[in-house]
Amino acid sequence: MIPDTLRSGVRQSHANLWHRCPTQLWFYLYSGPMKPSIYRITGSAGHAAIEFDMIHRLETGESRKISEVLDIFTSNYDAGLLTLDSTEGVDPKRLRDRITGYGNEPGSLPLIIRQTARLTPKLVEKPFSLDIEGIDVPIVGTIDFFASDGTLRDFKFRIGARTPTQNDIDRSFQLTTYQLGLVSLGEHVRTVGEFEILANPSKSAGVVEISAPPRSDRELEGALDEFTSIVRFVDLANGDPGLYPKTSPQNWWCGEKWCGWWNKCPRGGGKYE
Ligand code: SF4
Repeated sequence: MIPDTLRSGVRQSHANLWHRCPTQLWFYLYSGPMKPSIYRITGSAGHAAIEFDMIHRLETGESRKISEVLDIFTSNYDAGLLTLDSTEGVDPKRLRDRITGYGNEPGSLPLIIRQTARLTPKLVEKPFSLDIEGIDVPIVGTIDFFASDGTLRDFKFRIGARTPTQNDIDRSFQLTTYQLGLVSLGEHVRTVGEFEILANPSKSAGVVEISAPPRSDRELEGALDEFTSIVRFVDLANGDPGLYPKTSPQNWWCGEKWCGWWNKCPRGGGKYE
């Protein structure tokens, strides 16, 4: 049986959980979302600010003032901080300064707004829904940014030390899913990629763009198969957590710091609820 949390659509985020740890997908579907973190709050505040600028550019052809974009970021960020029990060792003021800028130091948010000025938006935060043959659940998602020259880009705020590599972009399931969405909307994709918005509080702000050729028809077919397999597994497992494999304990995200369900997972001494 398909749970209500999946019935309206399977998303790339479901697939990401599945790839990282199928038990995380069980928690997400049957026990509620992962607890909020400063990393997630920063990402959503940053997305809200970029979207605010991009939608204006889509509608008028002109960028917002940087001060207006920073206001959107700051108000979302500050509101998000109020929901947190802990900032997990991250200094929230320093992180905010790294993103908005401080004194003569540029912030990563003004840098991304300037760097994307060369691209003419065609679709911004565009939702899509794609039916899959043989299952009742569509693939749904929202495309961050698609430019009129066929450029598909996702925006990622990187607070940790690691910046994704070319290999990560070549294999990104998220970008493959977005391309599937664009194909379903009748768009032709010429390049896929991410803007890595560097926001580590102890390093310089910056923006790195990593791109890759569009996915092949075979890769898109593979992604459809993957979504189909996930939905079929969830249906057959019928909510039984014992049927969902746990990730290897050697994986860095399987621990109290990175897995928001650690305290509920038997691996962390909790129990499924
Ligand atoms: S604690 Fe480890 S095994 Fe349990 S849900 Fe999290 S990542 Fe998976």
